[in-house]
Amino acid sequence: AGAARPPQIHKLEEHVVNRIAAGEVVQRPANAVKEMLENSLDAGSKSITVTCKEGGMKLLEIKDDGHGIRKDDMRIVCERFTTSKLQRFEDLTTISTFGFRGEALASITHVARVTITSKTRDSPCAYRARYHDGKVIPLRPGDPAEPRPCAGNQGTTISVEDLFYNMDTRRRAFKSAAEQYALILDVVTRYAIHYGDSGVSFTCKRHGSASADLHTPAQSSSLANIRVAYGAALARELLELKAEQAPELLDKAIFDGAPADAPFSFRARGFVSNANYSTKRAVFILFINHRLVDSTSIRRTLESVYSSVLPKGTHAFIYLALSMPAPHLDVNVHPTKQEVHFLHEEALLERLRKALEDTLGSANRSRTFYSQS
Ligand code: ADP
Ligand code: MG
Repeated sequence: AGAARPPQIHKLEEHVVNRIAAGEVVQRPANAVKEMLENSLDAGSKSITVTCKEGGMKLLEIKDDGHGIRKDDMRIVCERFTTSKLQRFEDLTTISTFGFRGEALASITHVARVTITSKTRDSPCAYRARYHDGKVIPLRPGDPAEPRPCAGNQGTTISVEDLFYNMDTRRRAFKSAAEQYALILDVVTRYAIHYGDSGVSFTCKRHGSASADLHTPAQSSSLANIRVAYGAALARELLELKAEQAPELLDKAIFDGAPADAPFSFRARGFVSNANYSTKRAVFILFINHRLVDSTSIRRTLESVYSSVLPKGTHAFIYLALSMPAPHLDVNVHPTKQEVHFLHEEALLERLRKALEDTLGSANRSRTFYSQS
């Protein structure tokens, strides 16, 4: 049988390529929320409010009171690879630039209608611009395609409307707004817990709803925010988990300066449920160097400690914040791949396993830590 003639190969149009790439970065509304929350935190915000319509598919709005974006930067802020945080390739490995690629906002403008309103402290007014495929477009037909002055408080509000309006199959795959909203609320909750001690207030609500689904005050703590989000019944059963290795090296290196051959060092802090508490749904919250990540190896290690003390089919609550020299971390630069790997993986896992065993064990003998309401 003669083979058919090969089809002609042609290059995809640039905006199609960009849209496909953007769909990888932003797979669901909660991914966009995570990126924008991190931007708000990077901007030094003390109050961050997330508002959603239809699970974030119709509208996702993130309002913060951070340092804002200069008018001139508003023109390029949504172009690909524009960032205020990364100068050189080597910066990719340092902590202060963990995860910064200048790609998030650009990606969102390829798959949604984006409007940014921002005011810096020194500017007499705010500026607003609308974006499409990375570029500023007129706010209204006939307007010039540039940031327009408007009233506003210091900080930045980013509205993301009609997510995946140009990706039919993707949009239709998100049947349940409630499910997408639950994922968004989960991301905001995790950040609220991790930043509980940092004087940042978080709010997450549905558009038009009178009450917020999550609200944490600025003056709070990780423990208090766990109580707000997961309830007093869990908070009462929490133990503080601590472990560290050569922390003085960590403090000295303060990440940016750590050489690649820096000795093994880390600091772990967190709250974990005790051996008398169990829940149907496992909660595993992991931050490394202040970024929400996932680590299957840490998760498995800690869960295996619990599996020997908890009833079959039940799980624990684990919140762990790790710090370590950036060169010891392998963060996949792909934005949605949150899985991290460690240079000193075995040593780290061993220390964490031991720390959890000791914490659970000593709590069983004498309930040393008991959360106050
Ligand atoms: P990255 O965070 O990797 O730099 P992003 O695409 O997420 O890339 O953001 C691009 C730039 O836009 C940031 O570097 C920052 O300068 C600016 N920016 C984004 N969101 C905010 C915000 N909420 N407040 C102030 N600046 C922001
Ligand atoms: Mg960012």
